[in-house]
Amino acid sequence: MTKYINLLAFPAGHSISPAFQQAALDHLGLDARYAALSTAACALGDAVDMLRGKDYLGANVTIPHKESVRRHLDALDPWAETLGAVNTIVKQGDRLIGHNTDAYGLLRALREQAGFQPRGRSVLLLGAGGAARAAAFGLCREGIASLTIANRTLERAVDLVTALGKAGPVLAAISMAVEEIAEAVAGVDLVVNATSVGMNHGGAAGESPIDVGLLSPGTVVFDMVYTPIESPLIEIARSVGVVGVSGLWMLIYQGAASFELWTGQDAPVAIMYEAGRSALLSAAKPS
Ligand code: NAP
Repeated sequence: MTKYINLLAFPAGHSISPAFQQAALDHLGLDARYAALSTAACALGDAVDMLRGKDYLGANVTIPHKESVRRHLDALDPWAETLGAVNTIVKQGDRLIGHNTDAYGLLRALREQAGFQPRGRSVLLLGAGGAARAAAFGLCREGIASLTIANRTLERAVDLVTALGKAGPVLAAISMAVEEIAEAVAGVDLVVNATSVGMNHGGAAGESPIDVGLLSPGTVVFDMVYTPIESPLIEIARSVGVVGVSGLWMLIYQGAASFELWTGQDAPVAIMYEAGRSALLSAAKPS
């Protein structure tokens, strides 16, 4: 009997998750359909209840429901609890469990695409929204030595530092002012962009969040932005010999973790990456 997995988002039409999740299901010959469901806030409870039907394996959840969906679920895994946000729903018996695979996606992308091991390293994190929160908690859990969080709205960086607590690495919150960034970036091992600067159709499309001339060759740059696949930050970083990793890898690895939770099978990551990349390239073509 065909099984179903939904994406709960609003709007849902721009997501490339259906392309790469369906490619993975088809590649393994699984009789399952992944469908994007544009879900308004007032319909979220009903959309989650539908997953309780016997034909459903679970769902992905994205903007704007990652936080509000929690109240419709029966339990949260430790990452969803820590981050206060759910990106994956898995049906276990009659229960719906909320998971968050974003931190896993980032850490696996850093490890497999840049050979970066976080333990003992220094990190500059740009941004203090939901994606930055996942990165900060994930990197701290992996034993980084220091974390500087830079954000346009300084208060949000301070709040994130407070939420991380004193048990982790040396923590600092700064603004995005040029002099502060220049000081923070000197000698750092990893820069993660978790702002939307550089994202196509965003308010700062075509821009880099930092002056890449400040980077030293040993630094790894990870940009969560994946439209375009090679963001301005990544392009400039590579042009000066710095290793740059596209956010598309994080998207694929977080999706691979979701896939494994729903199906119990190893996700075909290479197939998913190619399907995701093709979907982004087709979407970027002028119609
Ligand atoms: P969010 O919660 O809305 O946070 C947005 C962040 O970007 C905030 O820190 C915001 O600063 C900053 N920002 C926005 N415009 C800016 C500008 N013009 N100059 C400087 N800073 C600016 O969004 P999010 O969910 O964290 O997502 C952030 C980015 O990560 C998006 O591009 C998203 O597509 C990407 N993302 C990628 C993945 C992946 O798998 N690759 C996963 C999640 C998110 P303020 O606090 O000052 O507003």
